Amino acid sequence: MAEEKKIYTTGFGTPVDNDQNSKTAGNPGPILMQDTHLLEKLGHFDRERIPERVVHAKGAGAHGYFEVTADITKYTKAKFLSKIGKRTEVFARFSTVGGERGSADAERDPRGFALKFYTEEGNYDMTGNNTPVFFIRDPLKFPDFIHTQKRHPGSNLKDTSMFWDFLSLTPESLHQVTILFSDRGTPRNFRHMNGYSSHTFKWYNEKGEYFWVKYHFKTEQGIQNLNRDEATEIKGKDPDHATRDLFEAIEGGKYPSWKLEMQIMTPKEAEKYRFDPFDVTKVWFHADVKPFTVGRLVLNRNPKNYFAEVEQAAFSPANFVSGIAASSDKLLQGRLFSYHDAHLHRLGPNYHLLPINRPKNAVNYYQRDGYMTYGDNGGNGPNYYPNSFGGPEPNQNAGEPPFEVSGQAARQPYIHPNDDFFQAGELYRRVMTDEDRDHLIGNITTHLCNALKRIQLRQSAIFYKADPEYGTRVAKGLDLDVNKVKKLAEMSQEELVKTTAK
Ligand code: NDP
Repeated sequence: MAEEKKIYTTGFGTPVDNDQNSKTAGNPGPILMQDTHLLEKLGHFDRERIPERVVHAKGAGAHGYFEVTADITKYTKAKFLSKIGKRTEVFARFSTVGGERGSADAERDPRGFALKFYTEEGNYDMTGNNTPVFFIRDPLKFPDFIHTQKRHPGSNLKDTSMFWDFLSLTPESLHQVTILFSDRGTPRNFRHMNGYSSHTFKWYNEKGEYFWVKYHFKTEQGIQNLNRDEATEIKGKDPDHATRDLFEAIEGGKYPSWKLEMQIMTPKEAEKYRFDPFDVTKVWFHADVKPFTVGRLVLNRNPKNYFAEVEQAAFSPANFVSGIAASSDKLLQGRLFSYHDAHLHRLGPNYHLLPINRPKNAVNYYQRDGYMTYGDNGGNGPNYYPNSFGGPEPNQNAGEPPFEVSGQAARQPYIHPNDDFFQAGELYRRVMTDEDRDHLIGNITTHLCNALKRIQLRQSAIFYKADPEYGTRVAKGLDLDVNKVKKLAEMSQEELVKTTAK
């Protein structure tokens, strides 16, 4: 039987009689106000754009699943992690961070690595990056940091001086800067990169015991990066290359996958750890806390509609399930607020009910109404709690076990025996190959050379503090006086800032 042709209708379901000619008084016109089809069509078009994400605006996504491969029930009671072989539906979104929605996929930038696990106990989101650390450890600095990665308020141009000014005034950024300016700052595509939770999270088990954890999604395609010249060329030839790569790989049945490795620490171990385990600018060294494999992520289905499934996808690190909770990582604490708040602005108060964001289990709550209320809005059931009309009841077992907090409420400066330079130095000295180091220095100097001289000096001194060879090579690449950089590197950050203020 031949497939019945669908009738083109208005948004209100009435048949459209003609979609090529507006209704006019005479020929050629003017057009009549009573061409309601035209008015509806233009009115909708005028409202097609929603606010782009202030960060992570350009992205690509795919559906898939997560499968548990190890027994981790002694660490967490999360249902979706409760059994070897258990699979949970996942939606993943990869992104660049600083650019606009139309920016090139090959920009030097961290890559967002956001996962939504549709578990039987609600959605769990992991909003990670392809880097294990971040630039700043306090969310109060976040808007300023992002401003410096975007456009100058006057010229509307990317501004190298403001970029490096902020980073050199914020030396905690050095570790992430070193990763960003290695070739890992330009991954070959989204499939050939790792994803990290970056933050430390809490897992707790049925007995109420808790553990500090970090997630590492290690690519099974192998790490592959673009060098500077390749990235520049690809940006011109195909600004959407990573979006295309992901889509075409999945279309062609080459399903990308990642092994989930966990690092887990007991609270006792955390107390004694040589680094602050809640500082997002630092990793836990593998030799100190050995990662072990607990699962596998596979992406095997492309979205059918980009806007509905990728643009409207809304992830938040505040979306926990029972068995997983936050740590005291300050940046995480800020993100717990900001992501949800950004989606309320971008998508409206009922964004969680959009098909891509809606949990697979039932949503039973007392929130009602608001723009774009979907579904039956709770029908005629009670819209307040407590009630004696059979409305949903909390499950006391679902909550996080109580935990201790202590100390004074104040704006506490960050004081910790470990400095901001050692781990970046270790990456440079111990992990990078000669080729990695050559590329790192070239990537930095070809960028930093466009900043004001005094900022070049300040930032070179910071590289020097991480490793004298690192700082020396950057200084030489910028044609700076190496002795001057060395002297600056011997100063405290305060002195360094004063000396390079003008
Ligand atoms: P190891 O010496 O045990 O392993 C080195 C790690 O560095 C590997 O995970 C490797 O990732 C990763 N790596 C290699 N090249 C780069 C690069 N250019 N940029 C970022 N990461 C890279 O690590 P340690 O635990 O002893 O830590 C040493 C340093 O390694 C850290 O200061 C940190 O900069 C970096 N690192 C550490 C991680 C951790 O969680 N401990 C995670 C990632 C980086 P892969 O295996 O995928 O090749």
